[in-house]
Amino acid sequence: MHGSPLVLDAIVRAGLGAGARVANPGEFTLRAYLNGRINLVQAEAVRDLIDAVTPLQARVAFDQLQGTLTARLASMEARLLDLIARLEASLDFPDEGYHFITRDESSREMGAIVSALDALLADAKRGRMIREGLTAVVVGRPNVGKSSLFNRLAGSERAIVTEIAGTTRDLLTERVDIGGVPFTVVDTAGVHREAADAIEEEGIARARQAREVADVLVVVLDGSAALVESDRELLAATAGRPRVVVASKADLPARWNAREFDALPVSSLTDAGIDRLRSEMIRAADAEPHRDAIATLNIRHTALVGRARDAAARGRDAALEGVAEEFLLADLHEARACFDEVTGARTPDDVLRLIFERFCIGK
Ligand code: GDP
Repeated sequence: MHGSPLVLDAIVRAGLGAGARVANPGEFTLRAYLNGRINLVQAEAVRDLIDAVTPLQARVAFDQLQGTLTARLASMEARLLDLIARLEASLDFPDEGYHFITRDESSREMGAIVSALDALLADAKRGRMIREGLTAVVVGRPNVGKSSLFNRLAGSERAIVTEIAGTTRDLLTERVDIGGVPFTVVDTAGVHREAADAIEEEGIARARQAREVADVLVVVLDGSAALVESDRELLAATAGRPRVVVASKADLPARWNAREFDALPVSSLTDAGIDRLRSEMIRAADAEPHRDAIATLNIRHTALVGRARDAAARGRDAALEGVAEEFLLADLHEARACFDEVTGARTPDDVLRLIFERFCIGK
């Protein structure tokens, strides 16, 4: 149909009048899942694809839709099933002892499954960054050029830049795409300045909070002015955190050696160093893009994969201690049940309801 909202509205009304009904949130995807056309991981990927705001997010969601996680789980499940079959067989023929598989072998095999699950969980961290984004907080004393830098990163003129110290009274945030990772960049008021009034005090308190939760800190030091005590304090206070130190106003003569503090010279006036800053932010947050398709795990997947991993690890240790097959099998079946719950082969109804409720109407 043509895009006119009026015409579309009239057509939908006519359809409803003739007995049709509007689809529920996620209904098309739910039906595809219930009819076995896609599994649960893929259904969730449809939602991620709809919600994607950066091209990398879309690509990762698309990979997931194609079955990245599903394929990795399937290969692990195949190993698990093979092991279960051999242990069950040993149970059926007790007189022959570990005839179909030795204790060492089963322990080794379970160990391999544990390693594969660990690798998957390590991937999860990076996947989460891509899906959910990161927070970068710009910190530094007043007038070092934080707001100007924030504007360059945000690509707009949102933050108010003035020559009067302490003008950024509230937190300004902007969502920006940095190397495919959605960053929420936060500009803060000067944290080290004595508050002149209540509003500014509130701004300073919020800035401190933002600093605590940041995934990466952009520590701005004025490159065109001598370092002062509060700069050094800030450097010391943020030393253990993921951070990028910036020597700002690089278009002006430098007053200190940026290399000494591992600082990146950046000018918001000429844009020199801005691209380097973007890639350093990604590096500091440990969010560099991989070339391979990565399996993204949401919280639901991560919890289940973690449980499968623990069950497999218990089995691995128990096999070495000479525990009876029945108990090993209980651990392996638990791991398998977790896999099934990830892909939706077996999932409680309320989990399903939660997943599909988060869709927009009709998708
Ligand atoms: P904030 O208080 O840390 O947010 O600093 P602002 O961004 O408001 O900048 C303070 C002053 O420094 C303003 O007068 C800016 O024009 C100036 N400034 C900021 N960045 C640069 C830069 O890269 N080069 C030059 N020459 N001046 C800058």
